[in-house]
Amino acid sequence: NNIVSLSKSMQKALNRKSIVEKRLLIALNQKNLKVLYQPQIDLNTGQMIAVEAFVRWHDEEIGVIAPDELIPIAEETGLINQIGTFMLEQACTQAAKWHKAGIKLKVSINSSVREFLDKNMAKSILDTLERTGCPSHLLQIEITEKFALEAEAETSIIKQMRQLENEGIVFILDDFGTGYASFRYMQLLPIQVVKIDQTFTKSLLQSDKTQRVVDGMVQLGKSMNFTVLAEGVETEQQKDLLKEFGCDYIQGYLIAKPSEPGYIEQLYRVHN
Ligand code: C2E
Ligand code: CA
Ligand code: CA
Repeated sequence: NNIVSLSKSMQKALNRKSIVEKRLLIALNQKNLKVLYQPQIDLNTGQMIAVEAFVRWHDEEIGVIAPDELIPIAEETGLINQIGTFMLEQACTQAAKWHKAGIKLKVSINSSVREFLDKNMAKSILDTLERTGCPSHLLQIEITEKFALEAEAETSIIKQMRQLENEGIVFILDDFGTGYASFRYMQLLPIQVVKIDQTFTKSLLQSDKTQRVVDGMVQLGKSMNFTVLAEGVETEQQKDLLKEFGCDYIQGYLIAKPSEPGYIEQLYRVHN
């Protein structure tokens, strides 16, 4: 029996959300989303070994919706499952195409925990791999700490991750170092790669302390037999330092921004 009033800004946010949701439904139906790919480079060999797939959406009515706005809304409304299905399908199709053309590239997709709450997630991933002709070892799945936190509580998620790992799919712990429990998840989940978050890369050259933290993160990762990947690398100096620390792979604007497949192929020829 209360009267609740919305502030103007809350109302605006709600309106925006419902417009985005409405347009997103249309975009999903018409497959109007796009995928761009960003290279991951092996620091030792200089070779491009993988790409990460990012969703891109330019709606004709409401313009460009950045992932930072899109993903939270999609998670809240449940449309994230459809985005995930779309991205998986596209990524596998692309990886299979490259594989047939002799281009050896793994493809990483970003996964929300909500998708794995579906008990059939592992099966539908394996089905998609088969249908698109993509070898399972070419697929990488990036999970965040929020994902890991829920996975810990939900045994069916870990079970599905193990099943996928057994098939050769690689899990990457994204945003490594930003959460409060990375260390626990490194032990608990079937993860093979840890990705040092870009906030660390950014302040690498500005702070002595950050350098020691990142050095420590690399050593910890390596001591536990993880492959260590750093994201957000924008300068040669950052790259050199990361190499000195023993970091395995890098990703960032220094190599390329998220790009069209055609440009990835050009870059691949330069690097490999
Ligand atoms: P993320 O997975 O941590 O991705 C890294 C973000 O940093 C991407 O932004 C990427 O474009 C950007 N980035 C890459 N290299 C550099 C660099 O050198 N410097 C700087 N400043 N930025 C760089 P984006 O594409 O806007 O995505 C933001 C977040 O949205 C992602 O963070 C990811 O969590 C989420 N996301 C993006 N695409 C998808 C998707 O298809 N599915 C899901 N579930 N989440 C997605
Ligand atoms: Ca990611
Ligand atoms: Ca990240």
